[in-house]
Amino acid sequence: MAYDTNNVFAKMLRGEIPCFKLYEDEHTLAFMDIMPQAEGHALVIPKEAATTLFELSDEAAQAVMRTVRRIGNAQKQALGAEGIVLMQLNGAAAGQSVPHFHVHVIPGSIADLRRP
Ligand code: ADP
Repeated sequence: MAYDTNNVFAKMLRGEIPCFKLYEDEHTLAFMDIMPQAEGHALVIPKEAATTLFELSDEAAQAVMRTVRRIGNAQKQALGAEGIVLMQLNGAAAGQSVPHFHVHVIPGSIADLRRP
């Protein structure tokens, strides 16, 4: 499926809608999730236009995981989190609602996530 340039994260990357930015570099952006499943719930996205893991380049995947580790370390320090949950959905069938690749970085335990 073609990449949808009107998705909310693409608009964020173009500066058309605001976000609570945590970190940015040449290849990635990290920001707070607007509907956190736990305190400190962050999202990391590549600047590359990829809908799912299966379109993501190796270079972008590497950059995303580098930023995920940076954010997880910050959550450990700032929140005293002992555990960090990573979640990453691919395709509407998996529950992905925003069609731009993203990794959820969530301090705490999978047992404590606020789920619908
Ligand atoms: P789901 O919506 O089922 O959790 P996703 O993995 O696609 O599936 O997650 C999209 C995430 O993006 C959600 O956690 C949602 O709260 C978050 N989100 C949507 N719009 C914004 C926004 N404008 N700013 C920050 N986070 C957002």
